[in-house]
Parts: sequence; structure tokens; C-alpha cells
Amino acid sequence: MSTKRIGVLALQGDVREHVAVLKTLDCDVVEVKTLTALSSIDGLVIPGGESTTIYKLSEIFGLYQPIKDAIAGGLPVFGTCAGLIMLSNEIHNSASGQKPFGGIDAVVERNAFGNQNDSFEIDLTVKGIDNPVHAAFIRAPIIASVGPAAEVIATLPDGRIVGVRQGNAMGISFHPEVVGESAVHKLFLQSVA
Ligand code: GLN
Repeated sequence: MSTKRIGVLALQGDVREHVAVLKTLDCDVVEVKTLTALSSIDGLVIPGGESTTIYKLSEIFGLYQPIKDAIAGGLPVFGTCAGLIMLSNEIHNSASGQKPFGGIDAVVERNAFGNQNDSFEIDLTVKGIDNPVHAAFIRAPIIASVGPAAEVIATLPDGRIVGVRQGNAMGISFHPEVVGESAVHKLFLQSVA
């Protein structure tokens, strides 16, 4: 099989960290800022950062509708934190006018843990991964509810949902990429044909 070509949406956020993790895995990595780059990839990572900014820039760069369509058309996609927010069908506490790409039948609550000072790290069990995953939560969202088509893949010890998957789309509230954790990226790559 030929090498998978994975894009990282490079409008805002921790693009470099995702590129670095992906480069340790068996794939070609491309930063996506254009339609040409978008149409060349086998899978897309949407980084953490600020989902309102990612949304606005995606409109300005002419990528909002094409990404939405690509996800609806089955492009494998993986979002962390702000990326999860962009993949959820409904956003609570959204900035005015902010729209998600959608793809996962979930309601996400932005900034559910408070401000930057409420950031924390924890080891979590993620469905499909044998060992605990080291996870950093940074102004993270919580998945408030999921619809019947979505599968919960990670929860906090208190039961709150922080990872979800539906068909070609997977989203997590946390950042494995900022702590050099590659297991969730590996899991994503398994879903890329
Ligand atoms: N609070 C950010 C948002 O709403 C997400 C934070 C993050 O990606 N670390 O987009």
C-alpha cells in the first residue's frame, strides 16, 4: 500500500505539534491552507487552538464549505480540542456566528473547565488503544451529549465524555500532541484507507 498523505489544517493552533507527531509515524504530512492541498490528502487533522479563529479563517481562506463537504463525503478526520469543537454538530457557548464543520452527532460545550489556569494532565483509557494515553487538557471542551450514531471512546474518571467517534470522524477534548503522545494519531491512521 502506498504511503498515506495526512493533512494538518494549518490556519491557526498547534499545527507544528501535530506535524511533529505525524512525522514519527508512517505517513507523508502536508500543511493544509489551500483547496489544492485539501484535495490531495487521505486524511485531515484539525488541531487545537481557538475554534472561533479556525472557523473565521476557514471562511476567509475559502475552505469552510469544502472541508465540510469533504467530511460529509467520508474524508477521515481527527480533531483535538478546538478541532473536536469544529467536528461536533452542535456547539454550546459558541462565539456569535461560529459554525462547526460537523460530522459527529455530538453537543460540545466550549471552555467547560474554566480558563487557562484550569488546565491539567491525566492518563486516560481510550477505546481501541491498549495502554493509557497521556492527555493534556487546555481550556478544553466537554462533550455534553452524543447522539445514537456516535460512539464514546474516552471519559474522565468522573464519567464526563472527552472522546467520540462516528464513521470517518474522531474528536477528543485533549491534546496528546503537546505531550509527545502518538497513540491516538496511530489509531486515527488505522482509519485512513
Ligand atoms: N477553548 C478553545 C476553543 O474554544 C479550545 C482550546 C484548545 O484547543 N486547547 O476553541
